[in-house]
This record gives sequence, C-alpha cells and structure tokens, in this order.
Amino acid sequence: MISRSTLIWLSRQEGLKDFATSFKIFKKLTTRFVAGETIDEAVKFIREINAEGASATFDHLNESVGSASEAEAEVLEYLNILSKIDDAGINSNVSIKLTQFGLGLDSELAYKNARKVVEEAHRRDNFVRVDMEDSSVTQITIDIFKRLRAEFGLNDVGIVLQSYLRRTYSDAEQLVKLPARIRICKGAYNEPPEVAFPDKKDVDANYVRVVQLLLSSGIYHGVATHDPKMIEATIDFAKREGIGKDKFEFQMLYGIRRDLQRQLARDGYNIRIYVPYGKHWYPYFMRRLAERPANVWFVMKNLFKG
Ligand SMILES: Cc1cc2nc3c(=O)[nH]c(=O)nc-3n(C[C@H](O)[C@H](O)[C@H](O)COP(=O)(O)OP(=O)(O)OC[C@H]3O[C@@H](n4cnc5c(N)ncnc54)[C@H](O)[C@@H]3O)c2cc1C
Repeated sequence: MISRSTLIWLSRQEGLKDFATSFKIFKKLTTRFVAGETIDEAVKFIREINAEGASATFDHLNESVGSASEAEAEVLEYLNILSKIDDAGINSNVSIKLTQFGLGLDSELAYKNARKVVEEAHRRDNFVRVDMEDSSVTQITIDIFKRLRAEFGLNDVGIVLQSYLRRTYSDAEQLVKLPARIRICKGAYNEPPEVAFPDKKDVDANYVRVVQLLLSSGIYHGVATHDPKMIEATIDFAKREGIGKDKFEFQMLYGIRRDLQRQLARDGYNIRIYVPYGKHWYPYFMRRLAERPANVWFVMKNLFKG
C-alpha cells in the first residue's frame, strides 16, 4: 500500500503536476474532490449545498505560484469570486493561500496581494480565511495575518491552525487574544517530528484541547474535520459548557463525508463546505489521496474503467 508521506511527496513534484494536468483522463478523476474547472461549476454546487442548509468557502486552486504576474492573476480571480458571490446571491466566503499570492517570491508581495482581497471582502461584507500551508511558512503566515487583522475587523479575516504542530496550542492562545477567528484542522503536509506530533493519537488529543480553548473564547471559530470522534468531542464539550450551536461552525471538504455534512445540518449545526475549483488541482488532489491512501484504489479503478 502506498504511504501517506509518499503521496504528499508526490504532491510536490512539479514534473508530475504538469504531466497529470495535461491529460483529460486525470481531470475526470479529480471530480471526486474538486467542484470543477470553472467558477460557474463551483457556484452551481454551492447553490445546491446552500439549499441543504450548508454555507461554503470558495477556493481557487493554485499554490506556490512562480511569478508576480501569476500572483496578480490570483488576486483578480479572487476579486471576481467575491463579486460573483454577491451577484449569484450565494452564501459563501473565500479561502486563500499566501503562496498563491507570491509568498515564495517575496513576503511583502504576498501581504499586499492578500490585503487587496481582504479589503474587497470588507467592502462587500464578506470574509477571507487564510489557509495554513507547510511549517516552513507557519510563522510568516501568522505574521501577515496579524498585520491584516490589525487593519481589518474580526469578521473580515481569519486564519487556520493545525493540531499536528507542537506550537499550535500556544499560537491559539495568542491569537484568540487579538481576538481572531480560527479554523482548526489536523494538518495536511509532511512534517518532521521536531515540529509535528508523529502519532495520530497526539494530533487528535491536541485537536480536542485546541477546540476547547477556541469554543471557550466566545469567538466564532471553525472546527474543520471529518473525524466523528473530533465532532463528538466538540458537541459534547459545547453541550457541557452551554455553548450554543450558533456559536461555532463545523467545516468539511467538498466530496468527503457528504452524509455527515447533511446530518450535522439537519441536527441544526452550522456547516461550511470548502469548495475548490480550477485547473491547478494536482497538489490539492494528492493531499486528499494522502489523507486516505485507500482513495488511490478508488482512483485506479475509475482510471481503468475509462
Ligand atoms: C474545511 C477544511 C479546511 C482545511 N484547511 C486546511 C488548511 O488550511 N491547512 C491544512 O494543512 N489542512 C487543511 N485541511 C485538511 C486537514 O488538515 C486534514 O488533512 C483533513 O481534514 C483530514 O483530517 P480529518 O480531521 O478529517 O481526520 P482524519 O483522521 O484524517 O480522517 C477522519 C475520517 O474522515 C474521512 N476522511 C478524511 N480525509 C479523507 C479523504 N481525503 N478522503 C476520504 N475520506 C476522508 C475518513 O472517513 C477518515 O477516517 C482542511 C480540512 C477541512 C475540512
């Protein structure tokens, strides 16, 4: 069986990225985790989930861009998304990655680009979530987020923390003091044991600790997971502490545990679905395979079905 770390390693191979994205047959397989190549396909899906009581967060797939002009194109895409959300009257905010805005080229460029999107979201009364990438950019992502948060409101911009990182509990303690809206997730990259817990049970225990800290802060946070144990621990804690269902939201990814997404909506919980679209699906898609290597069999089966 192919391992999680091999799949994450493959997700970073530029040559494979170009190879995979140039073949129609691979594109077909991505529909399991990606809403489509165009913004309109994503809008169509968001309308469907809105009708079922879920909100969305839009993600234009592209990360680690190689030039300032590519980063600029990403800003324009996000300005377009924000306008589309209003025109279509759908319930969605947006998620961005700083490497998409040029973080790997120049951190000031990434800040300025992100700022343009947050400013537009603020103008439109919408919200920007800064996704968290691998640990080489954790600190700079938090620093840029803090600058944005100092200029804009609590409901304009938020950040993501990953429970597999040893530093996360302390980051969460600092960030809630700003205050800041946080999405907690487990973390999707390959990290060395010095920075991340190698054992799943420690990642999960840290997840629950951070959720309890977040929920106790009285700020509206996102609990991003498909893990029934994490969901149950969140619900139990909220009930125990008298924290209302409207005080936080669960978040899940497009294509994963749609049954659970619907169940939580029916049970009266706020649920937001992360809806990725675009041509640059390769690294995102490979990270989804890595989360559940059994998915590789699903992909292979469909590939040979033609
Ligand atoms: C809304 C959202 C935003 C995210 N943003 C970020 C981010 O900014 N940075 C980051 O590093 N990570 C992000 N992630 C990914 C996250 O870190 C995890 O890698 C991912 O959510 C899997 O962890 P889990 O909590 O579902 O638990 P796991 O223990 O990995 O999985 C629990 C169960 O969920 C199901 N499941 C999980 N993943 C899959 C899959 N790919 N295919 C099929 N079933 C699956 C399986 O039934 C599995 O048993 C995000 C996740 C979500 C839901």
